[in-house]
Amino acid sequence: MWTEVRILLINKRFPGGPQTILGPAGCGPDVAVLDEVANCTLVTLDERDERLPLLLGLLKEYDKDWTLRRRDRFTDEELEAARLLVVRYWALPGSIFAGPRVGTTYEMSEACQRCGAGARQTSALVVDGKELHVLEGRRAAATCYDDMLVDEKLAGALAESGATGLSFRGVFAAFEKRGHFQLPWRQLCATHTLPPMSPRSTGVGPYLPCPCARSSFETFEEVPLRLAYRASDVTDIRDVNVTWEWFGEVGFEGDVSNALFPYPFFLVTPKVWRIYRDAGVTEFDWIPIRVVDE
Ligand SMILES: [Zn+2]
Repeated sequence: MWTEVRILLINKRFPGGPQTILGPAGCGPDVAVLDEVANCTLVTLDERDERLPLLLGLLKEYDKDWTLRRRDRFTDEELEAARLLVVRYWALPGSIFAGPRVGTTYEMSEACQRCGAGARQTSALVVDGKELHVLEGRRAAATCYDDMLVDEKLAGALAESGATGLSFRGVFAAFEKRGHFQLPWRQLCATHTLPPMSPRSTGVGPYLPCPCARSSFETFEEVPLRLAYRASDVTDIRDVNVTWEWFGEVGFEGDVSNALFPYPFFLVTPKVWRIYRDAGVTEFDWIPIRVVDE
């Protein structure tokens, strides 16, 4: 495993261009990629690279004109050896909007009435028809709320693999005035919820604690996500599982059709990762959990 540091610079915010910072830090084209269309520069370094403290020292003068993100990277052997992998979606065009506001329905009898954590989906998944371009050319994706989408062929491969804890729903696009149209995609649904994670997890925390204690968890750009579970938590897992914790912003005031619900993260076994990898899917991070004593 190694930890990747990605620093995004907005070119025009640096008088004389970003080169005035990158040059003295020794960051050449091997690590710094200029995007002329977006007018930004992306610097990717190993956390142990000696150029990183140099660059950060020079950047300190430019307070809000750059962002930094850390994430752990793993070899295939490390992923293969993991008990479970956290599934995180990253794609440049972003994620498609979905959920109750575009017509997906939910049942709330076991959900928290304050934040909506535990809402149970009761219909096919409906996504926003205006944003279908973000799915173009992909075989797998996730919505803004971590609903997992796969194309029909990948859904077939997952079903044939006998992966446990998995069911499928249809996916529809909602168009204003023209109604819902079925898409050649399937939603992956997890039938198993893990116990609460170990407090030894890092890079995750509650930012707006709800009395139910189940939401609203968040992750942090600058701290790699490292989820930990006790050995006893993972004795009864399936190939597809979701976290007990629900993440993200909450916007729920009693009207489900207008709600923004939090959502759980997916965790899968290496068997599921192999099926995505063999299908050529590259837009996901797969992050092994850490199994701890307590
Ligand atoms: Zn709650």
